[in-house]
Amino acid sequence: MPARDYDVIVAGGGAGGVGAAIGAAKAGAKVALVEKYGFPGGAATNAQVLAYCGFFHHGGNAATQSVKGVGQDVLDEMQRLGLSCQPYHSPTTGNWIVLLDPERLKLGLDRLLRAHGVDVMLHARVTGADRRGAVLNGVTVEGHDDVLHLSAGAYVDATGDAALALVADQDCRVGNGEGRINAYTMPLRFGGLSPDLRIDRTRMQAAVEEFNTRSPYPIHRTDGGIYTRVEGTPDFWWLIIDRDMPDLSIRSFTAAEQSAREMAQVMLETLRDTVEGFGNAWLVQTGPQIGIRETRHPAARYEITHADVLSGRQRDDGIARASWPIELHSEAGKPVYEFIGGRGFYHVPLDAIRAEGIDNLFYAGRVIGADARAYGSTRVMGTAFATGEAAGVAAHFAAQGQGTVIPAELQNRLIAQGAFI
Ligand SMILES: Cc1cc2nc3c(=O)[nH]c(=O)nc-3n(C[C@H](O)[C@H](O)[C@H](O)COP(=O)(O)OP(=O)(O)OC[C@H]3O[C@@H](n4cnc5c(N)ncnc54)[C@H](O)[C@@H]3O)c2cc1C
Repeated sequence: MPARDYDVIVAGGGAGGVGAAIGAAKAGAKVALVEKYGFPGGAATNAQVLAYCGFFHHGGNAATQSVKGVGQDVLDEMQRLGLSCQPYHSPTTGNWIVLLDPERLKLGLDRLLRAHGVDVMLHARVTGADRRGAVLNGVTVEGHDDVLHLSAGAYVDATGDAALALVADQDCRVGNGEGRINAYTMPLRFGGLSPDLRIDRTRMQAAVEEFNTRSPYPIHRTDGGIYTRVEGTPDFWWLIIDRDMPDLSIRSFTAAEQSAREMAQVMLETLRDTVEGFGNAWLVQTGPQIGIRETRHPAARYEITHADVLSGRQRDDGIARASWPIELHSEAGKPVYEFIGGRGFYHVPLDAIRAEGIDNLFYAGRVIGADARAYGSTRVMGTAFATGEAAGVAAHFAAQGQGTVIPAELQNRLIAQGAFI
């Protein structure tokens, strides 16, 4: 057999990919991480999703943690860079989240990946795969000026979009499989505000009403949306611009990006004109790209079901905990929540991170197996660190054992690495 370049190749550098790469490296694997942007972090750094959800159970007077391991390493690194990383209790939803600063996150993840010896490739996109039946033999990685053909014992698809599974000819479901894709959101960041300004929800609701008289594209979130200050700055972060997506075509993405930017500009003008304290506001950033909640789901050996989530199903083959409630955005601006029963979390089983029909391909983050409703819970970033770590270690085991992964061995290794099961 020809020499392999790596034990594990991870495609995608979001929470799932970082969890997988560091998780596999901690288990002793030689790991490559391939990321199409110039920085890791995924949606947190490429789409301004500036809060980690899924580290803690819903509700309660104090935060109960459900994800540790690599996820905790990331929080510790952020603290070293001066972020508080303390659980923040959202008064509107009852959820506990961790607030982020994207620049510190990029740097912190760079440092953490380097400290664990991960071979990071940025501006590098997985564009092809060499699959023979149930085995992936290699991937094609394209940069600006070179095309690499890399091989590993096992692979992790952490691209959010099933980009690796797709080029490996894996069956994929788009959205809920019936033509509905969770709505997209363009997060907005405004500067020029006094740190002492109290943001009043009724004023933000009134601004949305005024906006709807000015813009050809309406805002459907009438509750004032989700907002907070960006951790460590006086900037105001707002999730208010949602767009329905009919499909995954270039035309639809272009229309969504362009209309969301037009909306951001009208919103800036509306805030300046009508909300006290926003007279000198400016738009610090949209994007870099619109926030994509959902695209493709590759075929997994098991799909976590709606009933698994609602009952808080515990399992002998569980390899990660998931504790974020179901949060579905089937219609733009109208999120629907359902809560986890039992002990406040459910187990992600090993088969949900394993590709159907491919023995050495694993899933991490939002591409793990989940039905259309369970997906509203499994997709968040805290959970993605946990499924990522499990996928990375499982991939390392599969690389050593010709595709075989024994749940108990995986669980023991994850616990030894500090993960919660
Ligand atoms: C508007 C919005 C708000 C949200 N709010 C929250 C929230 O507050 N908290 C929370 O925890 N979650 C939130 N989510 C969900 C969460 O952001 C995602 O589900 C999560 O980022 C999934 O992590 P991931 O690592 O699987 O994917 P991603 O974060 O999408 O990372 C995938 C990575 O793969 C890379 N990639 C893609 N294709 C390729 C390729 N071919 N080759 C190489 N690299 C590739 C991408 O560039 C990206 O860096 C929100 C999502 C959206 C859109």
